Amino acid sequence: MARLVMKFGGTSVADLERIHRVARHVKREHDAGHQVAVVVSAMSGKTNELVGWVNEMPRVVGSDVPGFDAREYDSVVASGEQVTAGLLAIALQSMGVDARSWLGWQIPLRTDHAHGAARIAEIDGGNIIERMGETHGRQVAVVAGFQGISPDNRIATLGRGGSDTSAVALAAGIEADRCDIYTDVDGVYTTDPRMAPKAQRLDKVSYEEMLELASLGAKVLQVRSVELAMAYNVPTFVRSSFEDPDSIDSSEGATPPGTLICAEDQIVEQQTVTGIAYAKDEAQISLRRVADKPGIAAAVFGPLADAQVNVDMIVQNVSEDGSVTDMTFTVPAADLDKALSTLEKSHDEIGYEVVQSDPGMVKVSVVGMGMRSHAGVASTAFKALADKGINIRAITTSEIKISILIDGDYAELAVRTLHSVYGLDKS
Ligand code: ADP
Ligand code: ASP
Ligand code: MG
Repeated sequence: MARLVMKFGGTSVADLERIHRVARHVKREHDAGHQVAVVVSAMSGKTNELVGWVNEMPRVVGSDVPGFDAREYDSVVASGEQVTAGLLAIALQSMGVDARSWLGWQIPLRTDHAHGAARIAEIDGGNIIERMGETHGRQVAVVAGFQGISPDNRIATLGRGGSDTSAVALAAGIEADRCDIYTDVDGVYTTDPRMAPKAQRLDKVSYEEMLELASLGAKVLQVRSVELAMAYNVPTFVRSSFEDPDSIDSSEGATPPGTLICAEDQIVEQQTVTGIAYAKDEAQISLRRVADKPGIAAAVFGPLADAQVNVDMIVQNVSEDGSVTDMTFTVPAADLDKALSTLEKSHDEIGYEVVQSDPGMVKVSVVGMGMRSHAGVASTAFKALADKGINIRAITTSEIKISILIDGDYAELAVRTLHSVYGLDKS
């Protein structure tokens, strides 16, 4: 008998039929004798609709104050998960499985104050653990993902894709043996299978590599969920919700298709390159002819940080004669206008001559633990992209990744080219 957390994302609970299929997956594990807690997302598209309504409301009122109260944003956007949790509990009860829905505050799952992108502070798993026990008829907990309760007792959400984080945190909080992330693909692939049909499923990925892949755009898991899985050593298994629930063997030792995210030492054969990730909607900003003197970087990036603009890649040239230089960096395309108006305000302190910007960039990244010990990985990427006529705008590297900024039109070609050049294509 194992204790499991089973998480189902938006596409897996998109309508009542799919919620029924999810209930059959849950019943299968429950019938196999496991203690089960489920975490659900909102039905596919629901959260986007709710976010749209929040953005729209001030405009409908005719307000000229931009934005909205983040606590009320959370109150609205958290509601999608409540619907799914209740519906799944009803489905399970109708199938003869004792089940109860839980909202974040009922557990409670406590967060910090950062509404809209809150971090989990603690989870009290005691009540859920007790009800899972034999004395309480092995009740199934159906938990609304993506939400918790802030220190001032308001609903708080965990950032987009946050139900993954709810699931891993709950697994840690109830000391589960495994956290199963059921989604619309049957595992983590060498790259997004929707982008490159030759992508292959990986049997195992280390926490470190998954953290890089997720941070660099592979949205199959939210970054924070991987951080938690690593910190609490939660074996996390990514698998498909679309398989026939009754064809799956749930007994101990069975090996259903999927990808285990685990510690590096559990992976016997380490590849140099494990996968390719990409992040769309990056904007490039270049400041031309900035004074080359101490304090300039602080004058540029300080105000951007104060305006909550996340700066990613930064490239600065060494000036020829020590007087002026160019500085290029990237920000999320959605923040471009805010970034430009912030730079405009700081123009006198920075003293740049011209600012140029381009919103349609893509960051393509190559990730692999083997890069630590193999030379030449970067030059292989540069040559492969050059052969396809793809211009590189900026490059950053770390121990286990190389990120390359390119024009958005070449995203698919670049991902497929890199996937192929590192021998990741399935034959
Ligand atoms: P859910 O709604 O279940 O949370 P998501 O849409 O958030 O699902 O994440 C699953 C999607 O992640 C897949 O449909 C796939 O297109 C995308 N994805 C991106 N990179 C990868 C990858 N390396 N392996 C698998 N899926 C990936
Ligand atoms: N429903 C939320 C979102 O769409 C959380 C999640 O699905 O993980 O971002
Ligand atoms: Mg997701």
